[in-house]
Amino acid sequence: MSSDQQKNASSGVIIRFWGVRGSIPTPGPSTVRYGGNTTCVEFRINGEIIVIDAGSGIRSLGGALLKESAGKPIQLTLLNTHTHWDHIQGFPFFAPAFIKGNQIRVIGRNSQPDGLKGVFEKQMDGTRCFPVPFAVLGAEIDFQHIENEADHHFQIGSVKVEACPTSHPGGCLAYAFETDHGRVVFLSDHETGGADEPRILEFIKDARLLIADAQYDSSEITSRRGWGHGSVDEVVDLAIKAKAQELYLFHHDPTHDDERLDDLLAHARAIASDAGAEMVIKSAVEGMDIHL
Ligand SMILES: [Zn+2]
Ligand SMILES: [Zn+2]
Repeated sequence: MSSDQQKNASSGVIIRFWGVRGSIPTPGPSTVRYGGNTTCVEFRINGEIIVIDAGSGIRSLGGALLKESAGKPIQLTLLNTHTHWDHIQGFPFFAPAFIKGNQIRVIGRNSQPDGLKGVFEKQMDGTRCFPVPFAVLGAEIDFQHIENEADHHFQIGSVKVEACPTSHPGGCLAYAFETDHGRVVFLSDHETGGADEPRILEFIKDARLLIADAQYDSSEITSRRGWGHGSVDEVVDLAIKAKAQELYLFHHDPTHDDERLDDLLAHARAIASDAGAEMVIKSAVEGMDIHL
C-alpha cells in the first residue's frame, strides 16, 4: 500500500456488524444468513475503535481484535445505548477485557443508583449470573456517564459524537458521529411514531448513513406499543423525512427468520420507491462490512 493509500484508508470509515438481532440471541438454521447475535457494531473512524453495545456479538469482535493487535495493547471506546440484557450480555465474554494493558472506556447513561459500572459488575457477580467476578478483569476499564444535555456533545479522539435520548422503557441513547463522509447515526432501541419524533428527526437529519431499530412490522407494533421498538414502515417514513442517504434496518425481531427479513426489506424498499425516495435501504447482516 502506498503512503497515499494509507492516508486515504485512515480517513475512511469502516462499520462492521457483529450483532444485529434484538432482544435475545437466535442462533440456528433459520437465522443463519442475517445472524443471531445481539447488538454490537464496530466503527473505525479517524483511527479510533468505537464499539456500540456489548450484546452477544462482542464475543467475536473480541477475538478479531486480539488477532489484529497481535499482542499489542488495545485501546477502545464502548458506547452503551442502555443496559437491557441484549446490549450488555456479551461483555463477560469480551476477551480483551481480561488482558492487562488494554484500555476500555465505557460511556453511557447513568440510569442506576450504582451507575453504569454497577450494572456491569452485577452481571459479573461471580455467583448468580456469571462465575468470574468483574474485579478480575485485567484491562483498565473506565466508566464515564452521560448525565444531562450538556454531556450530549463530546469527542472520542478527533471524532465528534452526539448523543440523543430515544423513546424506550427505562431510557436509551442514540449516537451520531460526524465523519469526513457525513453524519453516521445509530438509532436503536427506539419506538417510532411517538411524540418526540420531531426531536429524533432533527437528530438524524441528512444522515449519510442511518442504522435504525426496525424490529416490528406494521401489525406487530400495534400490539406492542410501549415496548420501545420501531416498525419498518415508520422507520422508512422517518428516514425519508430526514433525507437520509442510506438506511440499515436493525434490531431484528427474534421471531423473524431469514425469509421474513427478506420480505421486510423488500417491503421497506417498496415504501421508499412508492414515495419517490432515492434512499438506499439495506438490512443489517451479521459479518457485514461497510466502507465509506
Ligand atoms: Zn435491544
Ligand atoms: Zn432495550
